[in-house]
Amino acid sequence: MLAKGVTWLDDWFALEEVAPGVIAIGEPRYYQINWNYLILGTRRALLFDTGPGVRDIARAVRKLTTLPVTALPSHMHFDHTGGLSGFGDVALPDIPVLRACDQAGWLMPTDDLYVGWWEGMSWTPVKIGHWLAIGSSIDLGGRVLELLHTPGHSPDSISLHDRAGGIFFAADFVYPGKLYAQIRNSDLKSYLETAEAVLPLLDEGTTILSAHGRPDSDRLHRAPRLAPQDVADLGHSLRKLKASGERPESWPVNQRMSLLLSEDAFASWQEGG
Ligand SMILES: [Zn+2]
Repeated sequence: MLAKGVTWLDDWFALEEVAPGVIAIGEPRYYQINWNYLILGTRRALLFDTGPGVRDIARAVRKLTTLPVTALPSHMHFDHTGGLSGFGDVALPDIPVLRACDQAGWLMPTDDLYVGWWEGMSWTPVKIGHWLAIGSSIDLGGRVLELLHTPGHSPDSISLHDRAGGIFFAADFVYPGKLYAQIRNSDLKSYLETAEAVLPLLDEGTTILSAHGRPDSDRLHRAPRLAPQDVADLGHSLRKLKASGERPESWPVNQRMSLLLSEDAFASWQEGG
């Protein structure tokens, strides 16, 4: 089930050290095939996304590092925040849509942001540790991550850029497969703006790591990787879609990705933007 270089931590979590100090933690037995990223510095570690919470990812992380760990969700969707309440230190991007979910220091996302009703999941309140400004740098010691707002898939989506390491942690902005722009709160105007803003930031040779994978032709799993060309292709495809005036339910991007669409996602384009 796992590609070469990927190992099981137990019977649920798969591990791949995708770069020195960057451990991808996959959940290939979960149908959405989530990949979370434990990013290690010399002083502390950051876990980007906590999976759907089918299993205890905090326990898994404790087996992997003794550094203090901050958990940071890429957005509120249930398959990224399921394990969040297991962490003592939770950071959130400081954007209005999430500030509005702060109830006396506890994170309580709206149904539209969490969408847990899809799978009958209910939210476990999470104590908010600290807010991180968009554009700020997260210094883990020997590794600096830039925090970027990358809306489109959802209004609260963020990505992380390890510029020196040549890694872009895209989360659900881009991943191999069908990009979800058909869900509540998805927005194509934002999606295109994000693609156009991110592309110039990426050096050639940057590895883009995504939050959802899919098995290869031998049905083997590894951490999902894309390249700057995929972001360029997404931008190109969205511009073409806009120019076409069509409103299809799906739209091709390239051989690795396509977009799933809904009427809601087109709304901002009709407003003249
Ligand atoms: Zn999502």
